Amino acid sequence: MRVGIYHNDVPASLPIVAQLKAELTHAGVPIDQESPEVVVSVGGDGTLLGAFHRYIGLGDQVRFVGLHTGHLGFYTDWLGSEVTELVQSLLSDNGQRVSYPILQMTTTTKTGETNRYLALNEATFKQPVGTLVADIYLGDQMFEGFRGDGVAVATPTGSTAYNKANGGAVLHPSLSAIQMSEIASINNRVFRTLGSPLVVPAGQKITVKPQIDKFLITCDQLEIFAQDVVSAEFEVADQKVHFAPYRHLNFWKRVQNAFISESLG
Ligand code: NAP
Repeated sequence: MRVGIYHNDVPASLPIVAQLKAELTHAGVPIDQESPEVVVSVGGDGTLLGAFHRYIGLGDQVRFVGLHTGHLGFYTDWLGSEVTELVQSLLSDNGQRVSYPILQMTTTTKTGETNRYLALNEATFKQPVGTLVADIYLGDQMFEGFRGDGVAVATPTGSTAYNKANGGAVLHPSLSAIQMSEIASINNRVFRTLGSPLVVPAGQKITVKPQIDKFLITCDQLEIFAQDVVSAEFEVADQKVHFAPYRHLNFWKRVQNAFISESLG
């Protein structure tokens, strides 16, 4: 089995990466940074987002494993002190996987050019200086005129990230759905939006049509070149993200550990 390693450059990660490389080499596991079957991300959840964008283009061939050099996160099941155990799990790998829905965003420019992006957490439309003005469609139907800082459209696994800060619900990742949340919407007698998060099932689209020229589009931690974009469609992607579940924490346990108390349960 070919293993790729993706890591951040914080001082805590580098010795762990060195140990991981040494133990994989000693065990005869080939390290392949171009076409891996399993990618070990060393860092935090943010690092795993980077690994996702580096390797998701390989499609169903690739599975991810997260090794956290701080605390356990939403995409990380292993701690930095557990490299040897992780290598043992890689050696007894039998192709097992757990798969979660991801978000597809398709942007269209003034000239009709379309671009497709995949997100593991969310994509956003934002106007960081002034007000984002955008028409929001559900399916083919114009639903609301939005004014405010922006909107985020999140996956179920991303529902605990930016989406949660926007007052969105935490969704179990077995649900094939996306969730739109508002970022500081203006709501008064003149401007009105639903004002609550909205969950849309696979097969249905949310479309955002900006009514201003300057705005920002993000896809997880990446900024997307937004110039001339006249609309963006959001939907559950056909493709999924796969994790190698050698050790895979229960989702609600992760939520509890992250937001309530590590000592519970
Ligand atoms: P960052 O600003 O350095 O870190 C964002 C924080 O979100 C980190 O603590 C990260 O955990 C955590 N995180 C990432 N994915 C998560 C998930 N699915 N559930 C719960 N927490 C999660 O940026 P980054 O590390 O590059 O991550 C980009 C993400 O930041 C975006 O996808 C967005 O979700 C999030 N974000 C949140 C806000 C907000 O809450 N107001 C604003 C902007 C962006 P680790 O420490 O383990 O890396």
